[in-house]
Amino acid sequence: MIRGRGDLGRVQRLVVKIGSSLLADARAGVRQERLDALAAEIASLRERGIEAAIVSSGAVALGCVRLGWVGRELAVHEKQAAAAIGQPMLMHAWQRGFARHGVDVAQLLLTRDDLRNRRRYLNASNTSETLFSAGIVPVVNENDTVVVREIKFGDNDNLGALAALLMDADLLVMMTDVDGLYSANPARDVDARRIGLVEAVTPELMAAAGGAGSSFGTGGMASKLKAARIATRGGVAAAIVDGRRAGALAALLEGEDVGTLFPCGADRQSRRRHWIAEVLPVSGRIIIDDGAREAILGRGASLLPVGVVAVEGMFDKGECVEIVGGDGEVIGRGLSNYDAEEMRRIVGVPSDRIEEVLGFRDFSSVIHRDNLVLTG
Ligand code: GLU
Repeated sequence: MIRGRGDLGRVQRLVVKIGSSLLADARAGVRQERLDALAAEIASLRERGIEAAIVSSGAVALGCVRLGWVGRELAVHEKQAAAAIGQPMLMHAWQRGFARHGVDVAQLLLTRDDLRNRRRYLNASNTSETLFSAGIVPVVNENDTVVVREIKFGDNDNLGALAALLMDADLLVMMTDVDGLYSANPARDVDARRIGLVEAVTPELMAAAGGAGSSFGTGGMASKLKAARIATRGGVAAAIVDGRRAGALAALLEGEDVGTLFPCGADRQSRRRHWIAEVLPVSGRIIIDDGAREAILGRGASLLPVGVVAVEGMFDKGECVEIVGGDGEVIGRGLSNYDAEEMRRIVGVPSDRIEEVLGFRDFSSVIHRDNLVLTG
């Protein structure tokens, strides 16, 4: 596991996420020289035995350039059409870039639903393993043409983090057009300095990172920090580097002080808890009282029906629900032991009376501590 810059020389497999603004130009379309340079860097890593996958943005941007839609406000179906046009252009450009080095690329288009579904997840994971062992570079993007908001990754930083977990990578590198995270906006503040190492992505850091970045991508620093948190909690280190700088990847892996590194920290969760916290869709909400809040946060206790105040939504037994305090603050998530209907009937009921109310008692808790993850 990568715990600091000194460990970066040991990376065996990495996922490199590259933002739209690096790959697409508003007038000329594909920035082929940039792509060629990145392909050369990745190909030379592979010669040293380091496997790499790419998460490439740019489909929508390239489609827009081709259609003459740059700078226009686009409806969802227009973005999807642009992606359908831009995605093959993107793949063609990567193919060209890698062909010079005798390396093949493969296209993986994913949606969030693919990762939620265990069978599809395993398929995607096995396919990438097979590609790696055949010496091929997987190029991943969101399957933009079919996604609706509910099943969207949201942005490719998030997709990058989940792809890194799916592929069991050691490192997620997010390439963008600044050389890391800054203490303030470097475009506006002369005192802004690069933060080389982030041990924990705190809510304060998130607030300081602000909103989305360039005109092309959907990401910005906030989404990179979120992605770094997802990756590091799952045991994958993350880094933000300047993708415009030649050799940035090699420099990072040699342990040079470039960009921002997010080492794997002490807050690593098991894959299972991570799954509950980051990947599973939320099917309902359980509002709890202060006593239950205290027990969960302070003592790591299970959630008992007696501490439940209200139940929102429809869900089945085993589905993921959000746990919310009386003040509306989301405390965590967990897998429900009862379906929504049953849960509503046992609101505020002591555990030894569950059977009396429901006619059966499968569990004394409504969410067992092993299936409960704090996310606040
Ligand atoms: N999937 C989008 C595209 O390829 C990019 C999303 C993002 O940049 O975050 O155009």
